[in-house]
Amino acid sequence: MTKTVLITGCSSGFGKATALTFAREGWNVVATMRDPTKAGELALHPNIFVTRLDVQEQDSIAQGVGAGIGRFGAIDVLVNNAGFGLFGVFEATPSDKLREQFEVNVFGAMEVTRALLPHFRSRRAGLVVNISSGAGVFTLPLLAPYCASKFALEGFSEALSHELAPLGIAVKIVEPGGVLDTNFGARSGAEAARTPTPADYDGVAEATARLYARLSAQATSTQDDVARVIFQAATDGSDQLRYVATEDIQPLVRARRETSEAAYLHFLRARIAG
Ligand code: NAP
Repeated sequence: MTKTVLITGCSSGFGKATALTFAREGWNVVATMRDPTKAGELALHPNIFVTRLDVQEQDSIAQGVGAGIGRFGAIDVLVNNAGFGLFGVFEATPSDKLREQFEVNVFGAMEVTRALLPHFRSRRAGLVVNISSGAGVFTLPLLAPYCASKFALEGFSEALSHELAPLGIAVKIVEPGGVLDTNFGARSGAEAARTPTPADYDGVAEATARLYARLSAQATSTQDDVARVIFQAATDGSDQLRYVATEDIQPLVRARRETSEAAYLHFLRARIAG
């Protein structure tokens, strides 16, 4: 039986690369996006079905999930990929932007998951792969709302995995680090440019710009590398919960998970200071 994956945020980046990876591996793909006119090459693929789904709109979630099940008969795997990074000084970030960060990265993933659960329960099978970030494991300046959203997604995913395992449904978390060949940086930059920052933060902003320049120089993985890890998480049949998807963040992830809190903070603060 051909398996089917539904992916959110397929207009670019990891979503698009993941849709193409699964399709190449012979899967049926429900490639969802806010604006299906951005489908590009996905629309040409015989086993990719493009349909509209905005994770901030309850009706479009129901319609997108329903259309996907209608097209292929069943969905085996959900990849909650849609998301963006709000970059900037927390104090200066407008409240509606903070809420949007959580609406997309957290509540969006929650609502799409909930829309699939009756289908997964009826089959006593299913897998949810949530795309977190290194920013869901450790923290960085000028990225507080984004870190908060990805930490929330991690907590949600881990807790949900306990709740759903007895029903035959698995939850996994994929954690990419910096990947530069997606639209992530452009969207984050556009969000930051809209927010004027008090001059008191000039020193922090300059130091942080240098920090991100150093981190970007270490970012050697591509969107296709991350898509492979997402495919592995979906297909390896293991009960592994977390998958670190890029090499650049391994030292920080190890510091967080394999050393004391004090040693982790010392390591992280030294990295931030340069
Ligand atoms: P991207 O190229 O900007 O892709 C983000 C996708 O999310 C786009 O398809 C975008 O659609 C979609 N999206 C945004 N808001 C949405 C909404 N309300 N409903 C449905 N779709 C929405 O960036 P990416 O790097 O591939 O990011 C994908 C995921 O990876 C995100 O969750 C991000 O936080 C995470 N991540 C990225 C990196 C990185 O360095 N690139 C690292 C770690 C984690 P539109 O075209 O309509 O805006």
